[in-house]
Amino acid sequence: MVRIHGRACIGSKLTSNTWREVNLKPRLFLFDIDLTLVDTARAGSRSMAIAFYELFGITDAFNGIPFAGRTDLAIVKDAIALHGISDGDRVIAQLKEAYFIHLGRLLYEASGRVLPGVMDLLELLSSHKHAYLGLATGNFRRSGMMKLERYELAGYFKEGGFGDETIVRAEVVAEAIRRCQEAASVVFALEDIYVIGDTAHDIESGKANGARTIGVATGPSSTEQLAQHQPTLVFQDLQAALPFFGSLLEPAAEPSSRS
Ligand SMILES: [Mg+2]
Repeated sequence: MVRIHGRACIGSKLTSNTWREVNLKPRLFLFDIDLTLVDTARAGSRSMAIAFYELFGITDAFNGIPFAGRTDLAIVKDAIALHGISDGDRVIAQLKEAYFIHLGRLLYEASGRVLPGVMDLLELLSSHKHAYLGLATGNFRRSGMMKLERYELAGYFKEGGFGDETIVRAEVVAEAIRRCQEAASVVFALEDIYVIGDTAHDIESGKANGARTIGVATGPSSTEQLAQHQPTLVFQDLQAALPFFGSLLEPAAEPSSRS
């Protein structure tokens, strides 16, 4: 169990609780969404395919296009290029609008779920004053938040990086760090930023930003496959990762008072 920490006593003698407060560093935890926090039972990819068919009359437009760990903008651009449709902001905006409409329906029809350990971990982190939560997801901002709202997780997250503006996942992480630092008015040391996700893209994008990375094998990759990308740590799922996160929130040992 993680200890509950007392308030620092400003201007008074250094108490035991004060020691714990000053010895804990602020840490930022950036989460991927799909197959890290939730499994939407492919509501996202199915909604995108329906939207594409509606606009362009092409069925199975995303066959052969990888989704896992990539930004939604990259996925949409791939499909547009594959089917010879002229690229442009207006086309992408139309696709996004149609996608959001179908996602809003399919998210509630599909038999998705919150993944093991997620609720306990988010409760643990959000109850701790030195832990900050954010998103680093390839989802468009709106659809990412729709997925979290569907599973009642949206309240844990205020900011993050999303897949609206870039096809480069590492830029999503950079955006997430920047936005979360602004929102929290905290500058996090890189060693205190954790990027958590289920694909090699999550791990590589975290490493590209100098952050620590946590791989979870709740997506398409096994722990062995994720380990090949040398994350800081890899777990079967976030349930198995709970003790690690709990230990991060513990202060270092209190120094001897006899020194
Ligand atoms: Mg994912």
